[in-house]
Amino acid sequence: MTKVVDVLVVGGGPAGTATALALRRYGFNVVVLERSDYKNTRIGETLLPAIREPLVNLGLWELFLSDSHLPSFGIHSA
Ligand SMILES: Cc1cc2nc3c(=O)[nH]c(=O)nc-3n(C[C@H](O)[C@H](O)[C@H](O)COP(=O)(O)OP(=O)(O)OC[C@H]3O[C@@H](n4cnc5c(N)ncnc54)[C@H](O)[C@@H]3O)c2cc1C
Repeated sequence: MTKVVDVLVVGGGPAGTATALALRRYGFNVVVLERSDYKNTRIGETLLPAIREPLVNLGLWELFLSDSHLPSFGIHSA
């Protein structure tokens, strides 16, 4: 099969998928090539508040909120 695209993003993690979404917003024809089938759980516990801006910019904020994650009111590390 042959498919002509503007951009091929290799790796469908957060970086690759965010890049692909952003490029689509600029009108590029993008394909994400991901080697996994996403069936394995990807471990993640928390997101910093700063995640809001990129999610808003990608148009994903409302979708993110609809997942009803527990709010975090601060992060301390030692
Ligand atoms: C145990 C653990 C816990 C974490 N917890 C948190 C957390 O609580 N909060 C947080 O913000 N961050 C957390 N992180 C960090 C977070 O997972 C990373 O910052 C984030 O996944 C990086 O995204 P990425 O897209 O750069 O890379 P990745 O998520 O690694 O994505 C890369 C993708 O590329 C694919 N790939 C690789 N090689 C190829 C290839 N040759 N062809 C096609 N596809 C390929 C992989 O399958 C993968 O899907 C955690 C990380 C770990 C390991």
